Amino acid sequence: MQCPYCNFNGHRMDLHAHLMEQHAEQVKVFVHRVTGKMMYEFQCPLCEEHWLKPLKKRPSDLQAYVREIRMVAFDLFLYHLMLDHGQDAADAENQDAT
Ligand SMILES: [Zn+2]
Ligand SMILES: [Zn+2]
Repeated sequence: MQCPYCNFNGHRMDLHAHLMEQHAEQVKVFVHRVTGKMMYEFQCPLCEEHWLKPLKKRPSDLQAYVREIRMVAFDLFLYHLMLDHGQDAADAENQDAT
């Protein structure tokens, strides 16, 4: 799979780890000013797809859960890349092997 933010290319699992390491801030986790609920927000860099989801965690737990939230968000994003942008789970070099 191709990273949509840079030249990185790797298997789905490697890309997930790469997103966590290099692009974690792309998933914005914040406390909504009006509702006081924790939310996360993510915009696909390739299309108009946009996730804005409330979270069940308490705002006081935000720092403890932010990594977990990003892992889930990137997981959804990788599915989106496969379903809507035609990527498959393999890295580019191994695509012909299957
Ligand atoms: Zn990247
Ligand atoms: Zn997209």
